[in-house]
Amino acid sequence: MRNVIIVGSGCAGNTAAIYTARAGLNPLVVIGHEPGGQLSLTTQVENFPGFPEGINGPDLVENMRKQAENFGAEYVWGGITEADLSKAPFTLHVDGVPQQAHALILASGASARWLDLPNEQKLIGHGVSSCATCDGAFYRERKIMVIGGGDSAMEEATFLTRFGSEVTLVHRREEFRASKIMLERARANPKIKFLTNTVVEDVFDVNQNLVTGVRLRDTVSGKTWDQDVDGFFLAIGHVPNTKPFKGQIELDPDGYIISHGGARTSLKGVFHAGDVQDRVYRQAITAAGAGCMAAIEVERFLAGH
Ligand SMILES: Cc1cc2nc3c(=O)[nH]c(=O)nc-3n(C[C@H](O)[C@H](O)[C@H](O)COP(=O)(O)OP(=O)(O)OC[C@H]3O[C@@H](n4cnc5c(N)ncnc54)[C@H](O)[C@@H]3O)c2cc1C
Repeated sequence: MRNVIIVGSGCAGNTAAIYTARAGLNPLVVIGHEPGGQLSLTTQVENFPGFPEGINGPDLVENMRKQAENFGAEYVWGGITEADLSKAPFTLHVDGVPQQAHALILASGASARWLDLPNEQKLIGHGVSSCATCDGAFYRERKIMVIGGGDSAMEEATFLTRFGSEVTLVHRREEFRASKIMLERARANPKIKFLTNTVVEDVFDVNQNLVTGVRLRDTVSGKTWDQDVDGFFLAIGHVPNTKPFKGQIELDPDGYIISHGGARTSLKGVFHAGDVQDRVYRQAITAAGAGCMAAIEVERFLAGH
C-alpha cells in the first residue's frame, strides 16, 4: 500500500515526485509509454527558468527524476491499463499488476496529434514541432509551415509571424473549423499564406537531421510538389491520456480532466497535474508548477486522514 501513486514521468509527475518524496511520502511514479514525457521528444529548451544557455529537454526531465529519486521516489516501468477509483484505497493496474494508494496524482499529459508521415517522428525537435510557443523563436527570418484548420492553427500561425519570414498555413479542406474571428485575423495578416485542399505527404531531410522541405499534394487536382520549409508546426490537436479514468472522474468532452479548484478532481484523494488538465498553457514550467500544487494538496489530504 502506497501513500501516493503519481501517474506520469513528465515535468508534472517528476515535480510532484520531488515534493512528495521530500515530504517523506515515498511516492511511486508510473513512467508510462513516454519516459520523461513530451520534453523527451525535443532538443533545446530555452524557456525553463534557471538555465541561461537553455538545456536539452531529455536532460531536464532526467535531472528532475534524479532529484526525486534522491529524496526516495520510486519509479516503475509500465503504464496504467485499468483503474478502480470507486473506493479508497484506489487501485491502479500497471501493465496488469495491481498497485494501491491512498492518494493519486494524475499527470499523464496530453499527446500531440501527428500526421504519421514517414519521416515526421525522426525530425521532431529538428524542425518538426507541435508547440509554437516553445519552438517559434528558433525560426527567426525562416520559412515556417503550420498544419491545421482550427482555432489553434490560426493562433499558432499568427503567433509565428513574429518570427518567420513567411508562414504558410496548410489545410486539407476548403472550409475551416476555426472561429470567424480567428480566421479573419489570420487572413488579414500579410505574412500568412493559405494553402487549402492540400495535404502533406512527407517532410525532409532525415539525412541532414533537419527540416528542409515538404512534399505537398493538392487534393482536388492530385498534383504534388515540393516546397522549402525550415519549421514545420502541427496544430491539429492533442489527446489527453485519460482513457483508464474515463467514467470515474469528471472529464470534459475532449477527455481533459475538469478541475475542481487547485489540483482537485471530482474525486477526493485524486489530484491532477499538468497538461492532462491544461488545454491552455501547455508548458514545462506550468506543468512543473501544477505538479508542485498537486503534491502539496496530497500532503494536506493525507495529513487530514
Ligand atoms: C516537441 C515539443 C517541444 C516542446 N518544447 C517545450 C519547450 O521548449 N518549453 C516548454 O515549456 N514546453 C515545451 N513543450 C511542452 C511541454 O513538453 C509540456 O507542456 C510538458 O511536457 C507537459 O508535462 P506533463 O508532465 O503534464 O505531461 P507530459 O510531458 O506529456 O508527460 C506525460 C507522462 O504521462 C505518462 N503517461 C501517459 N499515459 C499514461 C498511462 N496510461 N499510464 C502511465 N503513464 C502514462 C507518459 O509516459 C509521460 O511520462 C514541448 C512539447 C513538445 C511536444
